[in-house]
Amino acid sequence: ATPTAIMVGSGKGAENGILIKTGEALETAHKIQTIVLDKTGTITEGKPRLIDLFAIDEEENFVLSIAASCEKMSEHPIAQAIVKGAEEKGTVLQNVESFTAIAGHGIKAFVEGKEVLIGNKKLMEEKGIDLSKGIQKFEEYAEGGKTPMFIAFDKRLIGVLAVADSPKKSSKEAIKMLKDLGIEVVMITGDNKKTAMAIAKEVGVDKVLAEVLPQDKANEVKKLQEGGRIVAMVGDGINDAPALAQADVGIAIGSGTDVAIESADIVLMRDDLLDVVKAIRLSKATIRNIK
Ligand code: ADP
Ligand code: MG
Repeated sequence: ATPTAIMVGSGKGAENGILIKTGEALETAHKIQTIVLDKTGTITEGKPRLIDLFAIDEEENFVLSIAASCEKMSEHPIAQAIVKGAEEKGTVLQNVESFTAIAGHGIKAFVEGKEVLIGNKKLMEEKGIDLSKGIQKFEEYAEGGKTPMFIAFDKRLIGVLAVADSPKKSSKEAIKMLKDLGIEVVMITGDNKKTAMAIAKEVGVDKVLAEVLPQDKANEVKKLQEGGRIVAMVGDGINDAPALAQADVGIAIGSGTDVAIESADIVLMRDDLLDVVKAIRLSKATIRNIK
């Protein structure tokens, strides 16, 4: 495209809250064949709420108190949901002696000298926790599209927690429009396979990459690019930055983290997947004008 066409295209984008950083991005967007959407914060609101708690051989209050005390140390949105849920119930928090975040797995901490683990199945399996008393609840929560977590205290399973994060209002419509443009739509997430499948079904995504570790997201994009396919990635988190950089077109949600915004070629100021469709249309129009 000519520099003038690019300027006009970027200008129109900016008017609509779509910041296109390079001429190359504007020229590539209409060629996108596969689009990878991060789940949490991109397809969904990214504001999980604590909605279920199943206590095992302990009082509910005790389980919630241990969980919230430890999660208070974590910055993960899941952690914030658990802390807020506990605060709303007036739960008294306890002293936490040490805390470690285990990326893509959960957390480990100590309360009164006892080890606390909160996280997914992988974390519990690695630590040798017997899950038999909670696995059924865990699967039930996941099938409902909730994100379930186990909690173990002193190597003993004491509960299952579930947080829920709803899809944004326009996600389903935007995904349908992308599919109508002939684009393959893929959801990527660190979340549980069943949870991811349930959300995917709700918004009309057919292909799901779940239980992907933060450091592996870029590699999944690379795999989708094999054979020269043009792949776009849409994300909001620090986790997503390498994948945004790897993609042919990296698209960051403007309310996301600075790192994601820096790594992207296109930034959407409105928190809305419909603007991805708009950016592609803008690219098409720009190229058409100069041909
Ligand atoms: P994403 O941001 O894509 O959902 P993450 O890699 O951050 O994925 O997390 C993957 C999974 O690890 C979560 O779905 C959850 O099961 C577990 N996890 C991560 N952080 C925490 C935490 N602070 N407390 C409990 N579980 C966690
Ligand atoms: Mg995210």
